[in-house]
Amino acid sequence: MIPVNQPLLEARELEYVTDCIRSGWISSAGSYLERFEQQWANYCGREFGIAVSNGTSALQAAVASLGLETGDEIILPSFTIISCAAAILHSGARPVLVDCDPETWCMDTNEVEARIGARTRAIMPVHIYGHPVDMDPLLALAAKHGLQIVEDAAEAHGAEYFTRRADESAQWKRCGGLGDLSTFSFYANKLITTGEGGMVLTDDPERAAFLRSYRDLVASKGRRFEHHELGYNLRMTNLQAALGLAQTERFEDIVARKRRMGARYTERLSEIGGLRLPTQRSWARNIYWMYGIVLEDPDFPDAEQLGARLHDQHGVETRPFFLGMHEQPVLKGRGLFRDERYPATEWISRRGLYLPSGLALTDAQIDDVCVAVRAALR
Ligand SMILES: *Cc1c(COP(=O)(O)O)cnc(C)c1O
Repeated sequence: MIPVNQPLLEARELEYVTDCIRSGWISSAGSYLERFEQQWANYCGREFGIAVSNGTSALQAAVASLGLETGDEIILPSFTIISCAAAILHSGARPVLVDCDPETWCMDTNEVEARIGARTRAIMPVHIYGHPVDMDPLLALAAKHGLQIVEDAAEAHGAEYFTRRADESAQWKRCGGLGDLSTFSFYANKLITTGEGGMVLTDDPERAAFLRSYRDLVASKGRRFEHHELGYNLRMTNLQAALGLAQTERFEDIVARKRRMGARYTERLSEIGGLRLPTQRSWARNIYWMYGIVLEDPDFPDAEQLGARLHDQHGVETRPFFLGMHEQPVLKGRGLFRDERYPATEWISRRGLYLPSGLALTDAQIDDVCVAVRAALR
C-alpha cells in the first residue's frame, strides 16, 4: 500500500527529542518551545509565535483574540475544514460563507464584498492544499471596512504570495505573514509536523500576551492559582517543539522537495486528459501540501469510486476533498446556511481527491500512483 501520508523524520529530530528526555524537560516549559516559536515566526516574517496543542486550537485562540461579541460575523470559504467554522461558533460569532475559485480551490475573493454587513468583523482566508489565497483584494476590503484578517495557513507552510498593494513595495511574502494574525497546524500530515501541534503568529505584542495567557488557563499576574477569567490548557510540549525546531532548521529543503514532487505529479498526470490539476497563479508559489485532482470529465467515475478503485485494485491510499460547510449536518442542524448553494465547492467536494503526498514518498511511488490513476479511470 502506498500511504496517503508518511512523514519524514530525521537524525536532528531524534537528537533534539533525546535531549528533552535526557534533560527531563518534557512539559510545556523548556527551551525548544521558545526557539521553535521564534524561528517559525521569523521565517514567516512575523514578530511573535504562540505554540499551541494543534491547528484547531490555534484557530480557536486566534478567533478568541479578536474580541468579538455574540452575533458578530466572520467571512470564510465553504470549502475548508470544520475547524474554521467550529472556532467561529465556539466564540459565539457567526460563520458567513463564500464559494471557492474552481481553479485554485481557495475562497473566491470576488464574492466577499457582497457578504460584508453591519456585523462583519473579520475575514478568514484559508490557503487550500498549498496554494495561497489572492490576498490583495481581501486586504483592500479589510482596510475599507475596518475588518481583521485571520489567515489559516495550516496547509501552506512556506507558500508565497506576491503582494501588489500600492502601500507596500511589490514583493513576495510568505503565507502566515499576510493578515493581522495567522494560524498553523503541525499535524502529522503537515509540512512541519510535531505529531499534534499548532501556532498562532502575530506582530501585535498585546495580542501575543493575550494568546499566551489564553493557552495557559488565563493565569493572573498576581498570585499563582488565582484566576479572573476561565481559560483553556492549549499548551504544546517541549518534546513537540523539539521536533518542530529540527524541521524548521531544514525547512528550505522540505519546501524544495515538495515543489519537486508537485512538478513530477503534474508532468505525469497532464498526459491524462479530463483532470484538473493543482494550479499556480502568477502571483503564487504553491507548495503542493496535498496533491489534489478533480475529475472534470463527466464520464469519469466520481471521487469516491475512484478512491475505492485505487485502494482496492492498486494499493494506493487517497482522501476525498473537504465537504462544504453548507453541507455539514452538524452546522445545518443548527439552522445555519439554509438554502445556500456554493456550486464550485459542491462540484470539487464530489469530484476531487488527493493523492499520496507525504515527504517520505519516492519518485518511483509517484510514478506508480500516476500509472494507477490512469488505469483506474478506464
Ligand atoms: C489541518 C488543518 C487544520 C487543523 O489542524 P489540526 O492540527 O488537525 O487541528 C485547520 N485548518 C486547515 C486548513 C487544516 O488543513
